[in-house]
Amino acid sequence: MEQDLHVRDRVGVQDFVLLEDHTSESAFIENLQKRFNEGLIYTYIGPVLVSVNPYKNLPIYGSDYVEKYRNVNFYELPPHVFALTDTALRSLRGELINQCILISGESGAGKTEASKKVLQFIAATTRKKANLETVKDKLLQSNPVLEAFGNAKTNRNDNSSRFGKYMDVEFDFTGDPTGGHIINYLLEKSRVVFQAKGERNFHIFYQLLAGADDALLEKLSLKRDPSHYVYLKQGDSSKVSGVDDAEGFKTVREALKVMEIGDEEQQALYLLLSVIIHLGNIEFASGDGGRARITNPDLVSTIAKLLQCPEEKLVKALLNKTIEARDDVVVSPMARDEAVKARDALSKSVYERMFTWLVQRLNRSLQSSWEVKKKYVLGILDIYGFEIFQSNSFEQLCINYCNEKLQQLFIELTLKSEQDEYRREGIAWEPVTYFDNKIICDLIEEKHKGIISIMDEECLVPGEANDKTFLNKMDKLLSDHPHYLSHAKGDNKMKKTIEREEFRLLHYAGEVTYNVKGFLEKNNDLLYRDLKDAMISSSNLITKDVFTSSELSSKKRPDTAASQFKTSLARLVEILISKEPSYIRCIKPNDVKKSSMFETGIVTHQVKYLGLVENLRVRRAGFAYRRPYEAFLNRYKSLCPDTWPQPKGDPKSAVQTLVNHLKYGENDYRMGLTKIFIRLPKTLFETEDAFQR
Ligand code: ATP
Ligand code: MG
Repeated sequence: MEQDLHVRDRVGVQDFVLLEDHTSESAFIENLQKRFNEGLIYTYIGPVLVSVNPYKNLPIYGSDYVEKYRNVNFYELPPHVFALTDTALRSLRGELINQCILISGESGAGKTEASKKVLQFIAATTRKKANLETVKDKLLQSNPVLEAFGNAKTNRNDNSSRFGKYMDVEFDFTGDPTGGHIINYLLEKSRVVFQAKGERNFHIFYQLLAGADDALLEKLSLKRDPSHYVYLKQGDSSKVSGVDDAEGFKTVREALKVMEIGDEEQQALYLLLSVIIHLGNIEFASGDGGRARITNPDLVSTIAKLLQCPEEKLVKALLNKTIEARDDVVVSPMARDEAVKARDALSKSVYERMFTWLVQRLNRSLQSSWEVKKKYVLGILDIYGFEIFQSNSFEQLCINYCNEKLQQLFIELTLKSEQDEYRREGIAWEPVTYFDNKIICDLIEEKHKGIISIMDEECLVPGEANDKTFLNKMDKLLSDHPHYLSHAKGDNKMKKTIEREEFRLLHYAGEVTYNVKGFLEKNNDLLYRDLKDAMISSSNLITKDVFTSSELSSKKRPDTAASQFKTSLARLVEILISKEPSYIRCIKPNDVKKSSMFETGIVTHQVKYLGLVENLRVRRAGFAYRRPYEAFLNRYKSLCPDTWPQPKGDPKSAVQTLVNHLKYGENDYRMGLTKIFIRLPKTLFETEDAFQR
């Protein structure tokens, strides 16, 4: 096998640290493009893997590639997601250090595909034994289940994950996989009741309609054609080209079976899906005194039957709200618009809770069936990338906040691991300057004065607060913050003016303008107690689990959506920080899902906000190239008569002899405990050129 293949590739450089011009964005993009055009979608920045979505199947994931990359040193073969996974696995097995692989990038960049390759490699390279095969099967099959319920066709990606996912693969000390655990983050539940043009609801709805047999459909009172259902047809795109939903349904059922989710539970799932579909078709009219009235009551009776709950209760809950204020209980009828909102809130809540139930159910199956004394884990994080849309709302704020947190972690860990390596090797650390985005994290999450706190406080003011008062309050409290811009502050010097109902944040990845409309409502995430009560009376085995009467009797206000998210992110950071991280940075080459099309503008934008050039700069600030003494000697010993053919003494002193002979400048390199550190690639290129001659 060719040694040190990465040094200089025929097509650009395999590791960006070897770029001559490491501070220029255009040189970075050029290298990426050159490689992409040759079908080389992977490139390193030191230990970080950059991946460009090829939008076509490449023959680089078969068992031949698994074998090729297995147990081979990271730099000895061209960059690959298998190499990164193999390194993480070896560190886990050899040194018993918990690992995590963080995958980021924007929608459609290839995060989920990358996470599947990681799992594939793990499954293929771990021991084959009957009980282990069952574990691996479950790890792999949890995916189609989650994708059916949590992914949807969007305008960016036909199979877009609409939730964040962290999955631990657990191992025993011998490196056998023993089980797993999944944590889900912030499902985009608004999709259940509304889809933009060209988009769909979650896959499972269409799969159910296309794939269920006639008997099941009849039981669910459903027709096969999605165009009958408001919740499924708003995007006007119920078919996805190249996707067979009926086939998809089969796959999901098979996967559910592997996950040990039996017929009874499956029926409960389908019943709830049908309940949601029907809820969307309830029609309200404005009746006496502006009260909402249901114009198709038969449908409600169907829903009540499917839910197995008393019909009167459901009807009452769909038309009235009970509000408890101190010792007073007030029941008031809802107006038409209010009733529509309450109904949608119910649909979203049922779907979200069902999804959480499903994740917990998968986790039960993923638990190892035998006792494992000490577990080691490799975590995989597949989470939404930074989002800048035409119109940005509460969801984008949460997603972008999440990316700020991860960027912060990335900075901390990259710098930390550099520092650690220097310390381990006994080399003096030279501080690097970089943009610390903590200031933006604080702006969003700080207690009492951050955006989430302000929003939560507004949610507590009964009656008087609205999105506008929330914006005013932010304008007042945050007016001095350098990353907060608003109309009130007169911050219109930027490219785009800020309207009265907008505010703008300067994220590390760029400016995002948020429209405040709907913020408070989404943050409050209210489901009236009458509807909860109706759900509690249902005998569906899932609703029985996810709607409980303790929720009604509890005097404590549930946390707001943003606060819950903040808490879950804090926990995620804790999980990640305790592990040794590897990074996959995914990039989408164009916006039209085409292969062989590299749009420089689109890629540049992503390279910017993934902070890749900054990442490279940090990596290069110290020593660009480092190699264990043995490896360095192996390649270059022939360049010095004193080390050829057989170096004298220990590898370190032989390398010293070698670099003295090559006349390395005193400042060009450092001798660590086990590795030589070379400051500039140029030094190495010269050595390499000498070697090639
Ligand atoms: P989202 O944030 O919307 O979930 P994502 O980053 O998870 O997006 P993927 O679903 O992984 O994106 O990828 C989108 C599509 O791109 C895939 O369905 C597949 O067609 C293609 N794709 C991604 N990675 C690869 C790859 N390595 N090889 C071939 N095709 C790929
Ligand atoms: Mg995805």
